[in-house]
Amino acid sequence: RSRRRWWRVVRAVDEFEEAALTPVGRLKQVVDAMAVEMHAGLASEGGSKLKMLLTFVDSLPDGSESGIYYALHVGGTYFRILRIQLGGQKSILGHDVERKPIPQHLMTRTSEEFFDFIALSLKEFVERTGNNSQYSQVRGKGLGFTFSFPVKQTSLSSGTLIKWTKGFSIDDMVEKDVVECLQRALSRRGLDINVAALVNDSVGTLAVGHFYDKDTVAAVVIGTGTNACYLERADAVIKCQGLLTTSGGMVINMEWGNFWSSHLPRTSYDIDLDADSHNSNDQGFEKMISGLYLGDIVRRVICKMSLVSDIFGPFSSKLATQFALSTPLMAAMHEDDTPDLSEVAKILEETLDIHDVPLKARKLVVKVCDVVTRRAARLAAAGIVGILKKIGRDGTGGITSGRVKGVKSGKMRRTVVAIEGGLYTSYTVFREYLNEAVAEILGEEIAPYVILKEMEDGSGIGAALLAASNSARS
Ligand code: ADP
Repeated sequence: RSRRRWWRVVRAVDEFEEAALTPVGRLKQVVDAMAVEMHAGLASEGGSKLKMLLTFVDSLPDGSESGIYYALHVGGTYFRILRIQLGGQKSILGHDVERKPIPQHLMTRTSEEFFDFIALSLKEFVERTGNNSQYSQVRGKGLGFTFSFPVKQTSLSSGTLIKWTKGFSIDDMVEKDVVECLQRALSRRGLDINVAALVNDSVGTLAVGHFYDKDTVAAVVIGTGTNACYLERADAVIKCQGLLTTSGGMVINMEWGNFWSSHLPRTSYDIDLDADSHNSNDQGFEKMISGLYLGDIVRRVICKMSLVSDIFGPFSSKLATQFALSTPLMAAMHEDDTPDLSEVAKILEETLDIHDVPLKARKLVVKVCDVVTRRAARLAAAGIVGILKKIGRDGTGGITSGRVKGVKSGKMRRTVVAIEGGLYTSYTVFREYLNEAVAEILGEEIAPYVILKEMEDGSGIGAALLAASNSARS
């Protein structure tokens, strides 16, 4: 009897694996769907689940910038202030960072109180870092502002808050210009700093990538959530007729977490996860790829395994709790290299309250982690190649032109994609699956031209770099 039940566990895992398969043929369908959706999102407002937002960033840092610049990141329970000293020739001479919690009560009061607190903290930071620096005589003028809430950007240095998320609700700020609010608070505190750029964090990653390497054309963030941006030709932004930029280009913030296609290998666990989420029918791609969700998909499969058999002992109520298994813990089980999988046993016990799981069942748990992570990494890879296809850098010539611009015609150029975020930087197996899948989709002839580069703290440094490259011109 228990033998029959064991096979029910194996069958549940097999069925999941089958439904989550990502053979290269399917990935290529996702590549095509991504390129098509990008096109549709650029053609008209609301033309696709991909918003394809204009960022008003038309030129990226190239390493020649010099001087002192600041960045401010507001996006969660902590905010970060950063200062860099640029010395031209791609050199960052100094780099100071401070991270501070935002007092809970300020998250629901008035915009004036909120920004006053930020401005005061910035002022203290400027005075402190200014004093112990050999560059103290150089006054910093530009600040890049990363504000990770939904904003409708109206120029490089203005944008209105659409709505608060993540527990914030400062009502008087909704529909106000966030840069103006910050700038006013800075003047109230007597700080002579100009908010030169309002920056999405993926755009920051692209800026850092381009600062070091001019062949960088796209950036991807895969952390708690996921997003991507890339450099598009201004005349390809059809929904904005006559968009004129000095460079002829414009960085587009794709908001790719919301991408959807029928080609995505969706399982019953994904459907349940979506239904239980506070934003069902939204962020479908993100829910298959990013750190907030991967652990929970694994938890759902283990839950099913536990329901169909007694191999996991009595049903644990923790196992039924949403988000009880975080992605870093899931990764730790996946990467457990002890011969008897003792790390897996420990995490099942301590996190999910499941005890004395036999080795063969622990092996299956590792397999589930592998299926979830492999699918996530390979889908992210397909998304990246989708971007390359849209801009004609995948060796096939892009979706609008019939011409073949591949290697054979001698036009294939070195192309760099900057990648940031905890999943890519800290989860080795994820990174390896992603890198491998990009090469597999592109094929051995094209793959050597495409380089994925890990970026550290792009959202911080990148915002300061954009302040630098845009202050220099004005
Ligand atoms: P954020 O996206 O929250 O700004 P990060 O880019 O650092 O910040 O990403 C953090 C996310 O990355 C975490 O939510 C977690 O899901 C994931 N993560 C971090 N470290 C690891 C790890 N070692 N293994 C797997 N996932 C990790």
